[in-house]
Amino acid sequence: MTSSNGAPPRITTTFGNRTFGLQTMRARLPRDVYAAIERTIKSGERLPTALADAVAHAMKEWALEHGATHYCHWFQPLTGATAEKHDGFISVERDGAVIERFSGEQLIQSEPDASSFPSGGMRATFEARGYTAWDPSSPAFLMPGPQGSTLCIPSAFISYHGQALDEKTPLLRSSMALSKSAVALLHLLGRDDVTRVITFLGAEQEYFLVDQDLYKRRPDLVMARRTLVGALPPKAQQLEDHYFGAIPDRVLDFMQEAERELYALGIPAKTRHNEVAPHQFELAPIHEEVNVAADHNLLVMEVLRRVAERKGFALLLHEKPFAGVNGSGKHNNWSMGDSTGQNLLEPGRTPQSNLQFLVFLVCTLKAVHRRAGLLRAAIASAGNDHRLGANEAPPAIMSVFLGEELDRILGTIERGEVSEAGDRQFLNLGISQLPAVVQDNTDRNRTSPFAFTGNKFEFRAVPSSMPCAMPNAVLNTAMAEAIDEVAAAIGQRIARGEAREAAVMAVLRREITATKAIRFEGDGYSLEWQREAESRGLPNLRTTPEALGVWRDHASRDLFVRYHVLSEAELDARYYVRLEQYVKEIEIEAKTLLGMVRTQIVPACLRYQSELAVGLARLHELRQVVQLGEAIEPQAALLRAIAGEISALLGRADKLEAAVHGLHSVGGAEWEASYCANAVIPACAAVRVIVDQLEGQVDRGQWPLPTYYDLLFQH
Ligand code: ADP
Ligand code: MG
Repeated sequence: MTSSNGAPPRITTTFGNRTFGLQTMRARLPRDVYAAIERTIKSGERLPTALADAVAHAMKEWALEHGATHYCHWFQPLTGATAEKHDGFISVERDGAVIERFSGEQLIQSEPDASSFPSGGMRATFEARGYTAWDPSSPAFLMPGPQGSTLCIPSAFISYHGQALDEKTPLLRSSMALSKSAVALLHLLGRDDVTRVITFLGAEQEYFLVDQDLYKRRPDLVMARRTLVGALPPKAQQLEDHYFGAIPDRVLDFMQEAERELYALGIPAKTRHNEVAPHQFELAPIHEEVNVAADHNLLVMEVLRRVAERKGFALLLHEKPFAGVNGSGKHNNWSMGDSTGQNLLEPGRTPQSNLQFLVFLVCTLKAVHRRAGLLRAAIASAGNDHRLGANEAPPAIMSVFLGEELDRILGTIERGEVSEAGDRQFLNLGISQLPAVVQDNTDRNRTSPFAFTGNKFEFRAVPSSMPCAMPNAVLNTAMAEAIDEVAAAIGQRIARGEAREAAVMAVLRREITATKAIRFEGDGYSLEWQREAESRGLPNLRTTPEALGVWRDHASRDLFVRYHVLSEAELDARYYVRLEQYVKEIEIEAKTLLGMVRTQIVPACLRYQSELAVGLARLHELRQVVQLGEAIEPQAALLRAIAGEISALLGRADKLEAAVHGLHSVGGAEWEASYCANAVIPACAAVRVIVDQLEGQVDRGQWPLPTYYDLLFQH
């Protein structure tokens, strides 16, 4: 589509034109129905069932006008992907007439066959029913297909007994919990004007693009989504000349097409740039309400994947597709805003608003300090284990970076140099100038997993391929808890007759001291930090099975249950599904690697070895004639080295096979997961070392796989 002068249409004329958002609803719904739906979206009130028919009708008419033939409830089972089951609008009437129908009931609820989705044992097999339920707070959208589009209705996925079988439900529950706690605290601080607190998320998405033809020739990329072997070329990313460099045309073409689709879906894609590693890129959207942003991030991944395919690329969302090269993450920019539009993590212009800022800042410190293990567990996956702590990725140890100025300010409060939130005291210590101070100081400590960046926190350890829902659900819940405790402490002091500001300052002071261990301004990659973190008592959970173990703690269960975010059964389900996923992923990797070694790499090496051997034998025959003398020896040594490595590889492949064989010998998800971490992964690594050595010695023309050089340095 182009305008009259041949230029593409302005974004503002196409933005969201494939979504059934508030604007479209306002235009198409009777006034009372629209008012009811707006209330539902803003305050979580239930939409009266009687009105659902009107909404369904308007939605259907809109979808049909846009070429839709089918609708689906679009939901997020625990697989980490999205799911949809399409139903046609088509209906045959009693008199044989064919018409298009879509009722309120069909809009509100649907019943996909739940038995094939993981439930972590929550649903006994005889009770396989699961329901999807419309989430009106996330706009319905049209997904284009080759011949007509599908109306997708964002939905929650719950069991017959109301248990959450998905990612979205706990996120929605956690947002409600946080809102309730934060509103109460704000009222205590004198902000009676606030009725609701909203969590915001801006999820920066990192990814790699590689050529599709090369991708298809790498079974590891196709099956395991990352390279299981591959030697690093000498340049790799040492020069970092790719970062923020000019975007190649072929990639720009891909990005522009993807952005056009995202805009039509109402997704505010904002920034595009090269990332640190070659062929690595990033897309950052403008932040939105967390539930919508989490849905949108899933769509971003989906749209990027499809457009990449169309453009002859393969999209790699894995956290560590290439060893020795930067991995990918999802920088989870998180903040809270109140119903008046104020960002609670934004320093204000008056002592009063800065006091509020400091309170929410300290609550965040308290949340991360208290629930560091839970946050680590929320981002645990086989892929992320390879990334955390390697090549510019945040370490597995949770800590918070505030920046020098804020660090200093908290220090002055802690030392009691400011004990009142009055104008004069704040002014003397520079606190009344917080906005200026903080803006100048949003510089990054890229080694921190959880950094304050001016008016939000950036949780950088979130994996690139996973949905954002769980990390944010944990963050919100931990935050609700911290806020409640801080509010209770302030409330008690006020009840004892202390003035409000003095009570707040006293509580801040205590909490700043109590949470000191979580603050770290230094180099998160250094060995000293690992040692120091240990002495501070901070958890360093290196592998997924270790990290997920935290979900089994009594303290974790208590938190989720207390805030009605996850019941014990729901938490257990997530624990087992994650463990199983981990085991499956490692098993696939191991088997894929074995297959590549046995059917591609060893045969190629043997062919090369035999060429060397034949050549050497020939040289031997000619030895006297040509008077080769000692000159043969280095070549014989080369043959011996290759033969030795091939034999070593065969030995290690056998060991890997035995390790894979042992995987299901004992049973139990916990056992299998730790067996993967302790036996299978090391066996894969041992194989890889030799393969990568051989890659450096075997004739390039005979190497059976596209190399890192082909994948990352050929444009
Ligand atoms: P930088 O590039 O310096 O990291 P940006 O301001 O460009 O920071 O934002 C990066 C990401 O953070 C974007 O996705 C943006 O939407 C998001 N973001 C900005 N402000 C907020 C906020 N208040 N809450 C949540 N996310 C935010
Ligand atoms: Mg960033």
